[in-house]
Amino acid sequence: MREDKQLPDSHGYFEQFGGKFVPETLMPALDELETAYEEAKRDSSFWAEFDSLSRDYSGRPTPLYFAERLTGHCGGAQIFLKREDLLHTGAHKINNALGQGLLAKRMKKQRIIAETGAGQHGVAAATICAKLGLDCIVYMGEEDVQRQAINVFRMKLLGAEVRPVSSGTRTLKDAINEAIRDWVTNVRDTYYLLGSVVGPHPYPVMVRDFQSIIGKETREQILAKCSRLPDYVIACVGGGSNAIGIFHPFVNDKDVKFIGVEAAGRGIRTGKHAASLVAGTVGVLHGTKSYVLQDNAGQILGTHSISAGLDYPGVGPEHSYYKSIGRATYVAVDDKDTLEAFQLLCRTEGIIPALEPAHAISYAAKMAGSLNKEQIIVVNLSGHGDKDMDIVVKALGVKL
Ligand SMILES: *Cc1c(COP(=O)(O)O)cnc(C)c1O
Repeated sequence: MREDKQLPDSHGYFEQFGGKFVPETLMPALDELETAYEEAKRDSSFWAEFDSLSRDYSGRPTPLYFAERLTGHCGGAQIFLKREDLLHTGAHKINNALGQGLLAKRMKKQRIIAETGAGQHGVAAATICAKLGLDCIVYMGEEDVQRQAINVFRMKLLGAEVRPVSSGTRTLKDAINEAIRDWVTNVRDTYYLLGSVVGPHPYPVMVRDFQSIIGKETREQILAKCSRLPDYVIACVGGGSNAIGIFHPFVNDKDVKFIGVEAAGRGIRTGKHAASLVAGTVGVLHGTKSYVLQDNAGQILGTHSISAGLDYPGVGPEHSYYKSIGRATYVAVDDKDTLEAFQLLCRTEGIIPALEPAHAISYAAKMAGSLNKEQIIVVNLSGHGDKDMDIVVKALGVKL
C-alpha cells in the first residue's frame, strides 16, 4: 500500500497525538512489547496463523452486504454494510483479541490481563485465552459488574477470573487504571491485552493493524461488487478501533471520505454524552495524548451513552490526527436517533444491530437521502444487538 508518510513515528506520535505517557516502571514493558510486535509483524508465519484462525475460528471474511431495502427507504445513495456482527462473539473485538493473544503466546507470557466496560472486550479476551490456553484476568468496575451480569457469567464460563474494581466511578476508566497497576507489578510474566486503539504506543498502531483486516476485505469486496471505491465510509467511534480498522486501508484513497460517529447521549449541551472528538479538548488519558472529555483542571468527566461500548471519555490518537488534518469528519448522534435507527435496520433488513453501530446507521440513513443513487456508502456494522436486548426493552418502555 502507498503511504505518504509512515505514522506513527518511532516514538508513537501521529504528529502531536499519541506517545507514551506512563510511569517509568512501565517503559521497559512497552519497549519489550514494541520489539516483539515489530518482529512478529515481519514474520509471515505470525500472519499465517492470524489469517488461518481469523477464517476458521472467528469466521472471516465477513460479508459486505448491499442493504437494498434500507437504501430504498432512504431514497438516495446505496448503503452497504460490513457484517462484523456475524463474527464469533458477535463483534469486531475478536480481531484484536486474537492478534494480541497470538503475540502474548509468542512472547511466552502465560498471564493475560484485560479491562472491560460493558464486558464485550472482556468476553473477546476470555474467548481467545480459552482458545490459546492462556490464563485470563479481567478488571471491571463494580458498577459495570452489576449492570452486565450476563457478560460476567460468560467470562467465568470461558475460564476467566473477573476482578471488580471499587475505586473512582467504578466503571471502565477505573478498570483501566487498575489493569495498568497490575501490569506495573507483574510486568515479567503478564501481557496487557488492551481493547481499542487507545493507550500508550505501540497499542494504537498494533490494534489498528489487527483491525485493518476489516478495511482490507471491504476494499476488495466493494471493488468486486461495484468496480469502484465507496464515496463514504462510516463507523461508530468509542475508542475508535472498528473505525480505524475500516478507514485505514483507504487512507490514501483521497476520494473516499471518512465519517466517525460518536455518542451524543442525551445531547451535547446536556454534558451527558461521550463525544470526545466533537466536544472534548486535547489532553492525556491512559498513556496517550488525544481528545479527551475533561474539566478545566484536567480531571476526566463522567460520560453517558445508550451504548456501553461508546461510553469512554477518550479516543484513539490517530482519530485526533485525522481530525486535525481534516482526513476524517467526526459527528455525534444522540440516544433517541440511535434507537430509531436500531429499529429501522431491524425492520428493513432483518438485522438487529448493536447500539454502537446503530449510531453510524442513523447518520448514514439521513445522509443517504441527500445523495444521488450512484453514490456508495459503506457502514461498518461492528456488532450484533443480542447483548443490548435489556437496554432496548427498557428504552422502549416495553413490558415483557
Ligand atoms: C466495543 C464496541 C465498539 C466501540 O469500540 P471501538 O474501539 O470504537 O470500535 C463499537 N461497536 C461494538 C459492537 C463494540 O462492541
